[in-house]
Amino acid sequence: MSSLHQRETSLWHPFADMSAVRDEQFCVARAEGVWVYDQQGRRYLDGTAGLWYCNAGHGRTEIVDAVARQMRELDTYFVFNDVTNPPAEQLADRLAGLAPVDDAKIFLTTGGGESVDTAAKLARLYWVHQGRPERTHILSRGNAYHGTNGMGTSIGGIEANQAGFGRLVPDTERVDRDDAESLREAIERIGADRIAAFFAEPVMGAGGLYPPKPGYLEAVAKICAEHDILFVADSVICGFGRVGGWFGVERWGLRPDMITFAKGVTSGYLPLGGVVVGGRVAEPFWRQPGHPFRHGPTYSGHPSVAAAALANLDILEREELPARADALERPLHEGLLSLADHPAVGEVRGGTGLLGAVELAPDVLAADPGAAARLQRAVRDRGVIVRPLAKAVAVSPPLTVAESEIDLLVQALREGLDEV
Ligand code: PLP
Repeated sequence: MSSLHQRETSLWHPFADMSAVRDEQFCVARAEGVWVYDQQGRRYLDGTAGLWYCNAGHGRTEIVDAVARQMRELDTYFVFNDVTNPPAEQLADRLAGLAPVDDAKIFLTTGGGESVDTAAKLARLYWVHQGRPERTHILSRGNAYHGTNGMGTSIGGIEANQAGFGRLVPDTERVDRDDAESLREAIERIGADRIAAFFAEPVMGAGGLYPPKPGYLEAVAKICAEHDILFVADSVICGFGRVGGWFGVERWGLRPDMITFAKGVTSGYLPLGGVVVGGRVAEPFWRQPGHPFRHGPTYSGHPSVAAAALANLDILEREELPARADALERPLHEGLLSLADHPAVGEVRGGTGLLGAVELAPDVLAADPGAAARLQRAVRDRGVIVRPLAKAVAVSPPLTVAESEIDLLVQALREGLDEV
């Protein structure tokens, strides 16, 4: 256990049971490529790309240099009202050009949760400006994760993340995770003319790593279009090559009304998120006077953060990393599937980009509901980082990972499974 950092911390870790980690933490001190190093210098394969974000891998001096150059030129400035700056303009143009959305506008935030809240508020306000203020309901899927801000907490489908916070944002409702008919039924029950938007992650991440059932995303997009309900893709995990394509929706031929993004847009080097807003939703705000969107974080359009994103996009493009994720999808999935008949495994999920999960068998989880966290630690002791979810561990390596490193990851999982 020498990799653990023994010291009473003052740092409150998100989502952690601090009573368990306050004296013993895993301290990551350095990173390079697909590897991270603890304070003793021991290395670990970053099988999760941080929190699903480090698509270009660690140690990209090109991003560091671009940020340093930008900081020397214009370290920080805001973009409220009529103020702008060159990197924010360039980034918005570039993202709008890549997005599978008609006449795209780009609203920048500092992360995924803020982007979800931005899109949800925008959806409701759009309908107000259409003279339809009763269109307030926001639908989403069971098991969805849309961040921990107000709207995102309310439309999330992981109940534990809502418990104890009192009354959440009203007029939010979950539908079945996989069944498009459940969305249709909810629309019939609530009434399409009272619904603003439907939010969906293309591949559900934190709620358990569920790729969409064949035809599901196409079906819900069609149902939304039939009922004039805004379709919002939450591509915070799926964007920037993670499932191939730039915005995590291209492989299903989707053209959402809005797309939320974050994480891979900077490969996590600096905090950035945003919303791609289709021309239709933007129209009342951009063309009709007197409709400002009274919403926005201080650091929207931060020039140094935008510089990090531009340098990261250069790398993703030059090294064709979205296509690489496509090419490695099969080796990763086959590697994980080789664990499917292990007695401790209940189900293997994935096969959609560089995302996968190994869910533990029901008897293992019945004997120890914390088995996924135990598996994660057993795998980490073998030099590989995976992410514990409620019943599974998830993997999402940097898009630069080599096939031999995928083999290492699978081998460490196999040995970890033997241990749990
Ligand atoms: N939406 C999805 C699909 C996510 O996976 C996440 C984070 O994992 C978020 C939103 C929230 O993003 P952030 O943690 O940057 O606020």
